[in-house]
Amino acid sequence: MTYANDTTSVFQALGLAPDLRSTAQAGLEVHTPIDGSLLARVAASSPAAAGAALKRAHEQFLAWRDVPAPRRGELVRAFGELVRSHKGDLARLISLETGKILQEGLGEVQEVIDICEFAVGLSRQLYGLTIASERPDHKLLETWHPLGVVGVISAFNFPMAVFAWNAALALVCGNTLAWKPSEKTPLSALALNGLLQRAARDNGFDSGLSEVLIGDRATGEALVAHPHVKLVSATGSTAMGKNVGVACASLFKRSLLELGGNNAAIVCPSADLELVVRGAAFAAAGTAGQRCTSLRRLIVQRAIYAQLVERLVAVFGRLPVGDPLKDGTLVGPLIDARAFDTMQAALSAARSLGATVHFGNREPGAAAAHYVRPAIVEMEEQAGPMLHETFAPILYVTPYDQFEDAVAMNNAVAHGLSSAIFTRDLREAELFTSARGSDCGIANVNIGTSGAEIGGAFGGEKETGGGRESGSDAWKAYMRRATNTINYGLSLPLAQGIRFEI
Ligand code: NAD
Repeated sequence: MTYANDTTSVFQALGLAPDLRSTAQAGLEVHTPIDGSLLARVAASSPAAAGAALKRAHEQFLAWRDVPAPRRGELVRAFGELVRSHKGDLARLISLETGKILQEGLGEVQEVIDICEFAVGLSRQLYGLTIASERPDHKLLETWHPLGVVGVISAFNFPMAVFAWNAALALVCGNTLAWKPSEKTPLSALALNGLLQRAARDNGFDSGLSEVLIGDRATGEALVAHPHVKLVSATGSTAMGKNVGVACASLFKRSLLELGGNNAAIVCPSADLELVVRGAAFAAAGTAGQRCTSLRRLIVQRAIYAQLVERLVAVFGRLPVGDPLKDGTLVGPLIDARAFDTMQAALSAARSLGATVHFGNREPGAAAAHYVRPAIVEMEEQAGPMLHETFAPILYVTPYDQFEDAVAMNNAVAHGLSSAIFTRDLREAELFTSARGSDCGIANVNIGTSGAEIGGAFGGEKETGGGRESGSDAWKAYMRRATNTINYGLSLPLAQGIRFEI
């Protein structure tokens, strides 16, 4: 069976029939990174179609905001159940479209299910504060209200989970959705949104609650600029976030930015090296290094540097690289030729700075596919490409002498997404997670930098954009806060004791 037929079978199993063979000129060609072959052609949304979709989403919002939140939660539960019943199909589609290994595709779909469960609970506990008023017979309250249409812009590497993090929370908070997926992964979007629209219809709501806009950057820009879109949740590169953030600010529109990362782990002398090797291999080589939280820098105490590098080189040398649909493969292909070229350019730049490069070479595969052996790059100090995010499996390793230097190296990059420390020294662990420690949104102890659970707030600082999604109180980003002062007395005392007698 060809991968194109495989894709059609997935859509049939999902009971969805999008127009995948459209020969419309204004369409996207979707190629699988597995062998570069064509999976499907997807019609792009014309400006008129995008405008109509946003109008539908806005009209649905006007009704949806009046539906009680726990009832809104019922829709999210139904969606989560549909996703659970199609977990294998959806995971396969993710693998076909992104080249992610099937295990990670299954993990991504599980994340969709998990955030739906979280949001269902949340739908019964959206809360505001009651605050003591300085005036007699007055009550001071905070109430939370939905925003309107939430525009979601997503990256290729999590073609389903990122939308679900946003959608599940946005929906229970009373918003509707317009989703502009990556131009590299529109099929995953059509599949997941197709299930959400079915859940809506099955529960007596309109499918306009969640619209997909297919297109490239220009479609994303139109979404950002549209007056019905009240919050833009954008996931992708820092370059994209700079544009989206500025465009939103100029319109006084909210933005929630989840951008790049250049994540480090510090390995202290007391670390359990078995944990380090396993944690680093998954975080650096998993998803072929194409996670925002991928481990890119390992900062290792000089006394254990040589033995750790030796063990890592041995493990990276035997990582099974290949077909992501095949059992046992741990590293699938890069998304495209550009990713491969960017990786090779970073490795050349490192070599020219005197680095020792292990692996990073192309592995066998179809001519139009890009399989690589994840690279380990030894650098005496942090410099050149190590200071930037290269979205590919490169693990830079650098020695440190003093603990304080290691923390400073962790923080000495533009991004601030994820970080980790491997240590059995309580003081080092506590310092790393204290205000004097990591400046990232995620600071882990004795686990790698990737693979966050949905219960915590997810996101990062500095050029990662500052947004928070998923668990904890991230829901507040999808609502507006009103402060209400209620006078239930018979007089009108003014705050701050001001007298204004008339
Ligand atoms: P990308 O920035 O190329 O594209 C992301 C999305 O933004 C796409 O849908 C694209 O069409 C759209 N886009 C690009 N320019 C735009 C603009 N000016 N206005 C509106 N939309 C625009 O990113 P990518 O290559 O798909 O993904 C990789 C990047 O995403 C990496 O930097 C990675 O770290 C980051 N990422 C971050 C997170 C996170 O949660 N922090 C998660 C996944 C990926």
